[in-house]
Amino acid sequence: LNRNIKKKNQYVGFATLPNQVHRKTVKKGFTFTLMVAGETGLGKSTLINSLFLTDLYKDRKVPNAEERIGQTVDIVKHTIGIEEKGIKLWLSIVDTPGFGDAVNNTASWKHVEDYIDQQFEQYFRDESGLNRKNIKDNRVHCLLYFISPFGHGLRPIDVECMKALHEKVNIIPLLAKADSLTHAEAYSKKSKIREEIKQFGINIYQFPECESDEDEDSKRQEQILKDSIPFAVIGSNIQVESKGRKFRGRSYPWGVVEVENPIHSDFLLLRNMLVRTHMQDLKDVTRETHYENYRAQCIQSMTRMMVQERKRRWVEPGPPPTPGRRRPLPLRKMQEVLERIQEQMQQSQRGSC
Ligand code: GDP
Repeated sequence: LNRNIKKKNQYVGFATLPNQVHRKTVKKGFTFTLMVAGETGLGKSTLINSLFLTDLYKDRKVPNAEERIGQTVDIVKHTIGIEEKGIKLWLSIVDTPGFGDAVNNTASWKHVEDYIDQQFEQYFRDESGLNRKNIKDNRVHCLLYFISPFGHGLRPIDVECMKALHEKVNIIPLLAKADSLTHAEAYSKKSKIREEIKQFGINIYQFPECESDEDEDSKRQEQILKDSIPFAVIGSNIQVESKGRKFRGRSYPWGVVEVENPIHSDFLLLRNMLVRTHMQDLKDVTRETHYENYRAQCIQSMTRMMVQERKRRWVEPGPPPTPGRRRPLPLRKMQEVLERIQEQMQQSQRGSC
């Protein structure tokens, strides 16, 4: 096909196509849904505030120890509109407070899993419905999974949780509160976590391979990202002042930690990756891999149930069908079948974990 493409000397004008697409998308604004999980107190809300320079959690009620033990999981979604140079981003943060604190921890990640499935289910319903033009995409595009800096690598619940979710969402593991580790400790914890991720067969988000024709700088950046997993991060809700400069940081008796200093943490690497370089890829992988898996499963069960339904209808009393012609299932019946499938899928997902 490429050989048949002729370069024209005169222009018809379709070179403006990218601009047309760009203008339309810019008008609509971009949406992105980010989920955070990990035990309470690992700095999830502080990091989100630092990443997007907001105070998303100003109305947050922090539960006391008794409430935390008693609670299952309270999943909260905050959406904010951010505008930069005329570009709008509707950012949704799905918070899973209390995760890992309750007595029965299994139930906590199960709620997270159910939440992700419900968003797929809603999208699937909307996509098959009448108002397909105005579908609201609430699918979770990325999960920032916080790992404690105080343990020896992954805890069993981290492994269980990531394995339960890795087929449904792009997981990016983070080593929380990196300022509590020396450089050597952070380095060895990172390699241990990377090894364990491999050993336990956890499929975290894979950065796309660079094309062979991409420049050396992009290839180097891609390698740095891969080698930095899990990103060691630091968050802060306050500005500190030091040596005449003001910045987001944490002040200690022995010195100041700068959130955005690449020597102090991988915070900038994470923010650039999330916002500047890989946001679209995270959305593409969600759509093409995670949602497609869900959809394929749904359609498979739907077909199976339709066949069963047809067989059942043939043996039911009533007028015999015309030979060679099949009676289509009425719409109402299809809706019932769809609902039964969704129930069954939820039950089998619960059973398989
Ligand atoms: P969450 O429960 O996971 O949302 O945690 P929070 O963001 O509420 O943070 C819990 C506590 O940890 C607060 O006192 C924060 O100031 C502190 N904190 C947050 N991020 C960091 C960090 O990167 N390093 C250190 N040392 N403390 C942090």
